[in-house]
Amino acid sequence: MNAHEHSPDSRLKQAEKIVSHPEQYKVCEGCGSIVVMRAVTCPSCHAYRFDATAVRVVAQAKDLALRAASSVLSTDLS
Ligand SMILES: [Zn+2]
Repeated sequence: MNAHEHSPDSRLKQAEKIVSHPEQYKVCEGCGSIVVMRAVTCPSCHAYRFDATAVRVVAQAKDLALRAASSVLSTDLS
């Protein structure tokens, strides 16, 4: 399973999980990454400001899922 963690398909599954449980996640104000609620700073950019609004988390997860889908498309075309 670990070998496929960074595939676009698993990113889509991750996004589905986030959309199902937005209360367990928050969105980094610095870079837009979705991090787990218990994170103190963003693992990507080390910012410490987050938006934990469920609406924002769901919107961001859907955006990431769309980007994951489009990266599959561009990989297929290249
Ligand atoms: Zn960040």
